[in-house]
Amino acid sequence: AADKNSAIIRPINKGVVHRICSGQVILDLSSAVKELVENSLDAGATSIEIALKDYGEDSVQVIDNGCGISPHNFKVLALKHHTSKISDFPDLQSLATFGFRGEALSSLCALADLTVETRTKDEAVATHLTFDRSGLLVAEKKTARRIGTTVTVKKLFSSLPVRSKEFHRNIRKEYGKLITLLNAYALIAKGVRLVCTNTTGRNAKSVVLKTQGSGYLKDNIITVFGMNTFTCLEPLEVSISDSCIVNGFLSKPGYGSGRNLGDRQFFFVNGRPVDMPKVSKLVNELYRGANSRQFPIAIMDFTVPARVYDVNVTPDKRKIFFSDEISILRSLREALEKIYSPNRASYSVHEFE
Ligand code: ADP
Ligand code: MG
Repeated sequence: AADKNSAIIRPINKGVVHRICSGQVILDLSSAVKELVENSLDAGATSIEIALKDYGEDSVQVIDNGCGISPHNFKVLALKHHTSKISDFPDLQSLATFGFRGEALSSLCALADLTVETRTKDEAVATHLTFDRSGLLVAEKKTARRIGTTVTVKKLFSSLPVRSKEFHRNIRKEYGKLITLLNAYALIAKGVRLVCTNTTGRNAKSVVLKTQGSGYLKDNIITVFGMNTFTCLEPLEVSISDSCIVNGFLSKPGYGSGRNLGDRQFFFVNGRPVDMPKVSKLVNELYRGANSRQFPIAIMDFTVPARVYDVNVTPDKRKIFFSDEISILRSLREALEKIYSPNRASYSVHEFE
């Protein structure tokens, strides 16, 4: 301790840097699956299966019918900051994909055993690819598969001792968080069939989530939460400014959810599931004026031009910076005040459709 200033400054070994940074991109089971599901959506899949073994503790497989990966990309597929989605900074201003940093597959390699099976429409057979911890392709063999991609992640967090221990100890909690996350994608992904299955020990595969791939938010809500819940909601459509529209569903004043705060609140920006603590706080606050005993269900999708917000804030892309957050919150408050005014005595339960 005496000679701190004489310590030599030197670069950290590349592999160690990779592992350290990867632990920030892939925080837990749900962020691992989130990245894979988003890759499948970016690949234009209309059917995505998330197959868990032992709630994800043993393995996670994401199987899609998307465009597949071309053989010329196999070698660079899992290399850090290699992506097919952007090539220059201004591309972020018109981003139409979930991914853009080329970090997910490379991070998963650093934290787990990763294999990929893929086939594009131009190949007669699929290829099975194995990657090492640094994201290098180490084995390649032909296999049978339809067009699309399957990514398999085994031994998640085996290279991070503390995280690994926590992961195994809290697997039920991790699994619960994953289901909430998948619900968010099931609600917002229109025209995509999402299935999540789990296999425990020698038991048969059980289906834990299944959507029909409807093109409507309404149908997705009914699939995920059931008709009874849906009838307790009312549609929301608010123009916040010339360019910002909020669409979604909120609890009717007398029909909140008795559950915990935020349990059934889902926020999206241009269809991307994100965290919006300020909006959530606002909805809860105003709902309290109409119903002090319960919490509102809230499903809100903000449609805004790509240039007015930034998703490149946290490694998990769940946080959003709006360039004009104050006025967005102000307009939203006005709209919600109308819906949840305590004076809205004439309110009656109406079934729409
Ligand atoms: P990013 O999504 O930011 O581009 P990833 O590490 O998640 O980075 O993926 C790297 C690249 O691998 C993607 O840009 C894409 O070209 C390809 N890819 C990954 N998953 C799939 C998939 N399921 N289907 C087709 N291509 C995929
Ligand atoms: Mg990605």
